Amino acid sequence: MSGRKDVSRRGFIRAAAGGAGVAALGGLAAAPKAAANGETAWDRECDVVVVGYGGAGATAAITAHDAGARVVILEKGGEGGGSTYYSGGFFVSPRDVAGAVDYLMDCARAGDGHHFDIDRDDLTAWAEEAVQNEPWFRSLGGDPFVSLRGWYADAPGADSYVTWQPRENPTGVGLWQVLSRAVEERGIEVVYNAPGERLVTREAADDGSPVEVLGIVAAGADGPVAIRADRAVVLTCGGFDYNETLKQSYLRSYPHYSTGHPGNTGDAIALAARAGAALWRLTGTSANLCHKLPDVPVAFPSQLQLNAMSLSVVLVNRQGRRFVNEALNYDAVAKSLDNFDAVGRAFQNNPCWCVFDEKTRVKAPAGLPVPIGNPVYQWSADNSAEIEKGWIVRADTVAELAGRMEIEPAVLEATISTYNEHCARGSDPDFGRALGLIPLDEPPYYALKGYPGLWATGGGPRIDRQAQVLDVAGRAVPRLYVAGSASSFCFSHLYPLSGTAIGDCFAMGRIAGRNASAQEGW
Ligand SMILES: Cc1cc2nc3c(=O)[nH]c(=O)nc-3n(C[C@H](O)[C@H](O)[C@H](O)COP(=O)(O)OP(=O)(O)OC[C@H]3O[C@@H](n4cnc5c(N)ncnc54)[C@H](O)[C@@H]3O)c2cc1C
Repeated sequence: MSGRKDVSRRGFIRAAAGGAGVAALGGLAAAPKAAANGETAWDRECDVVVVGYGGAGATAAITAHDAGARVVILEKGGEGGGSTYYSGGFFVSPRDVAGAVDYLMDCARAGDGHHFDIDRDDLTAWAEEAVQNEPWFRSLGGDPFVSLRGWYADAPGADSYVTWQPRENPTGVGLWQVLSRAVEERGIEVVYNAPGERLVTREAADDGSPVEVLGIVAAGADGPVAIRADRAVVLTCGGFDYNETLKQSYLRSYPHYSTGHPGNTGDAIALAARAGAALWRLTGTSANLCHKLPDVPVAFPSQLQLNAMSLSVVLVNRQGRRFVNEALNYDAVAKSLDNFDAVGRAFQNNPCWCVFDEKTRVKAPAGLPVPIGNPVYQWSADNSAEIEKGWIVRADTVAELAGRMEIEPAVLEATISTYNEHCARGSDPDFGRALGLIPLDEPPYYALKGYPGLWATGGGPRIDRQAQVLDVAGRAVPRLYVAGSASSFCFSHLYPLSGTAIGDCFAMGRIAGRNASAQEGW
């Protein structure tokens, strides 16, 4: 076949390190230079290479292994878990397919009867798989309970769209214990400190067929290592939360800080580009309001906002004006920070300020420590340490506080006094806030900057309902799959409910693992 390199089937397998269990690629000295005849010199061989060991990667690996494939997981960092470990451990497992599809379609609504780039048949295939999330998690030894139902209660199917959490340890740490134990029990090989760097491909023939994926080159301690994937490569390397260039290009305002794992640098996009992958949903995120401390790389989800339904706190923009119902769900609030003021030519709400009073200050830490089940920084219970460090601004009067925030004092005073009047009346005609209408009337007063925060970015290589990557011509790329936040499948611009991202990791991870293992070896 013209235009194709002749890659012999078994000819260049040099070494296969270790068997089951943890191994290091560093032990393999060979660099995957082309052999003398132009073919790739393989250092390792397996059936399915899974790139990224978080929730989607664990799920795809378990499924491919159980279907009989020899699986190797490559993880960029020194340990597994990714943002899945950081998470709250919620995962969606809908009660029924039709309700879930209706709900997700409603969440993808655009103007004038249109929908964002989302398809009802795709969602049906997704939901048929996702209803299995809860029994599948149980089959791995987990014991989940129902914790939430659809946020948008007026949307059809909201009661069907439910979220679960692990009972024993209802955090990402508890969820990860179940997944990682299942990987270990199966003896699936996980190779740490081994970022996948480049797909090995067979170039497209001139008969119109797409590029084919043959394997992947990973960085080992002693240089690159080429791993032949006889059946498929599955990219599960998370989103682009820590890639400033991609965030500046695709997210609506800047900065967006991440509350997740620093390994999420958008590698799936770079890797899949070699196979000519189309991209989609890059503007979609699951977002929160977050606080960024100067000394800590990861940002903290705002507990002030998450608890706004029972706290006296208001959000004001850089002009000192409220701009949202603070007690809405976290994704809706965070996305209101992206509004662009065309007249002022500025994103006035990014950053914004959380303004609160003494009774709120002593109630709870302003930031939710992450990883949620095992924090890297312990926020002080009454916020005193963060005030002491100057991260939270304090003043005896609202006017003085405004001065410290570099806001016109009269504007902030008017905002707070209007808000307090709404509280006294029990209604908020400006933004319709019904919960947590508690006045800010107990000095001293405090302010803390808030930014759009990322639980995860949502877009990446475009995939079909088989989790297979589509190239820019719409053709399925042989032997290349993606799952998880590297290419969220079931939502676009609006995050439907806590647990959707990990529910998507489970559903698309199983679909990817099943289809990857079902490929004929090349
Ligand atoms: C604080 C927090 C709370 C959250 N709570 C929830 C929740 O309760 N429910 C929910 O549904 N969602 C939640 N989310 C979002 C959710 O955690 C993520 O969307 C989801 O876990 C992503 O899973 P993943 O497997 O796609 O990626 P990850 O779990 O992030 O795993 C990706 C892995 O790939 C590795 N990697 C990256 N590049 C490479 C490479 N080139 N080669 C090899 N490895 C690579 C990374 O190091 C990482 O370990 C939360 C997020 C955060 C930050």
